[in-house]
Amino acid sequence: MESQSIRREPASEERLRENGAADAAPVSLQLIPDYCDASAALFGNDIQWIALAKAAFSDWAKQAEPVMHAEAKGWFIRDVSGSWLEFREAELFGCAAEELREGLLGLGLEEPGNVLFQLSGERIAQVVLHDCRGNPALLLGMVMREGYPASLDNLMRLALGFPSWLYVHIEKTAGAFLRAERLVEEREARKKDILFQMALDLYSKIDTDEVLGGIIRRINELYPEARIDLLMTQDQPRSGLPVKVLNFTGMDEHVCTRAFMEGKIVIDECLQPGEFQMAVPISGKQGIYGVMHLHSHKGNFGPSDAQIMKVLSSAAGSAFENAKLYEQSNLLVNELRLINELTKQLNQSLKMHDIFNFASAELMQIFKADYCCILQLDQETGKFAVHAANVPAILHETFDENSGFAGMVCKSKEPVIISDYWAKPQAPVSRLMQLTGARSLIVAPLIVHEEAKGAILVAHQQPGFFSYDNYKLLQVLAGHIGLALTNASLHAEVRRMVITDNLTGLYARNFLDEQVGNHQKKDICGSLIVVDIDYFKQVNDTYGHQVGDEILIQVSKIIRSCIRDTDIAARWGGEELAIYLPQVMTEQSLKIAERIRFRVEKDTRPSVTVSCGVSEWHWKDDKISVESLFYRSDMALYKAKHVGRNRIMIG
Ligand code: GH3
Ligand code: MG
Ligand code: MG
Repeated sequence: MESQSIRREPASEERLRENGAADAAPVSLQLIPDYCDASAALFGNDIQWIALAKAAFSDWAKQAEPVMHAEAKGWFIRDVSGSWLEFREAELFGCAAEELREGLLGLGLEEPGNVLFQLSGERIAQVVLHDCRGNPALLLGMVMREGYPASLDNLMRLALGFPSWLYVHIEKTAGAFLRAERLVEEREARKKDILFQMALDLYSKIDTDEVLGGIIRRINELYPEARIDLLMTQDQPRSGLPVKVLNFTGMDEHVCTRAFMEGKIVIDECLQPGEFQMAVPISGKQGIYGVMHLHSHKGNFGPSDAQIMKVLSSAAGSAFENAKLYEQSNLLVNELRLINELTKQLNQSLKMHDIFNFASAELMQIFKADYCCILQLDQETGKFAVHAANVPAILHETFDENSGFAGMVCKSKEPVIISDYWAKPQAPVSRLMQLTGARSLIVAPLIVHEEAKGAILVAHQQPGFFSYDNYKLLQVLAGHIGLALTNASLHAEVRRMVITDNLTGLYARNFLDEQVGNHQKKDICGSLIVVDIDYFKQVNDTYGHQVGDEILIQVSKIIRSCIRDTDIAARWGGEELAIYLPQVMTEQSLKIAERIRFRVEKDTRPSVTVSCGVSEWHWKDDKISVESLFYRSDMALYKAKHVGRNRIMIG
């Protein structure tokens, strides 16, 4: 609408003057504050100011109306630019009122003074209210009743009361505004305080569970009305925390999936009014570990909350990452210490039996397992034999090389982890699992020089008991155990070669010496038979050395078949053999020597005879030594030769 200016119609001016109302001099009502400043300072916008002015006008008009009822039939307030107007028409209705309102709205302030003028056939009295700087701020006016003498005096008097009403409203609004502001500030300060505390708190924690627990507790403090879920990428048992596994399948559009994928806070806006959903990624320098999901039906989250959550997200991510790295390095240090200890212990023994038992006991302890079983592949038979197990029923049992988990891991040369054996019908048949009813299992092959030599099985009654770290650790430990077993078997082989005579398969002389010495230290008695083939030189001369060797082998076999496993038969010299019989006195050993003599004479081809010298020792003897025992047997043998051979003499 085009802005109108006040039309001073000469006729009406005359009349007004006639009526005794002089063209009023501008009177400043410099009582109201600079509204621009005040409005900006208090509320930050004009809207509040207009609302205040209108509210003050309403109160003022209520008070002025009864006093001025005879004089006025309507009241108004408007701003100097004519951009807004509040009209209170007492007795103006319908088109006339509307026309007047329109007219006043478009009317700019041409003369900044208090005036009487006519508009739409109505006589208007209008006073200017200046702000404290002297600038016109508001216009208060009344529509005069017909027949009443035109005068500004009463309006001006009443207008003096307007600033008081304005102040009342400013104070009321400002009070409420400031209270609300203070509340918001307090809430923000509290949030910041919680955030600060949380950061301090989180960074001091070195346990991932504690970090996650701390995050949840602090968010609960900040947003008690919200539901919080933590969705983590790794499946780890977390004591009593509302932690779930982040599941991506069929959840492409879910806020949590998006927050994880995009690495930033995602707010769901397509919800019911008042409902609020936000997903905050927990991200560190090395990656994103999970997502915090906040869901509330009281949507009082603001921009500052998003800011807070951003800080919280990065603090939580860093703290979680630090704790995780600390846990991992601890785990690694522990693993290294464990491997070091285990290999040290394993290397202390070169006996296969000891290594199997030690390894089995250690593995049970390391993995807190219920059962452990170690199998070795016998290269000759091609079968697995159980060498260590805490399940007596399977100890020393043998299995086909393709059967069970042992067969499976030896074939693939890769370890296997089963979280629930009974929920996996396609898993290989396992005697250990069937006997024990165990549910969790890890199996690693024993690999030495890229060849599978056996397998280790570690089991637990609970399903899902073993972690991925356990699985990797068993693989590493299996390598060390395999190496220790290989060393022990090599050592056993070398020792066997050292203590065995190649031709006869009997023990070598130094082994016999060593064993007799050992027995003399712990037993109460023992005897020694020395066996010498009669005229062996002649056998060699007659049939050749090769036949001589065969005779030696035949005699050795006969000796072996005539003694017990605990007796020790050895090749003592060229064609002289010796047998030590622990805890046996001469009476008994004579019988054994006689059996040997008899069998040699009867069974050797070409037939030979032997002469034997027997001697014994007893703990009651004055001097007990290996040498004297051998000397006495040798003397007896010499006697046997001397008196005709093919006989036994006692030394
Ligand atoms: P005697 O009845 O007095 O024991 O007579 P002998 O011929 O058996 O005794 P002698 O000590 O004179 O000869 C032992 C022979 O045994 C000499 C050696 O050629 C032979 N001999 C020693 N070791 C071996 C061996 O490993 N193989 C063969 N074929 N002969 C051996
Ligand atoms: Mg001899
Ligand atoms: Mg001889």
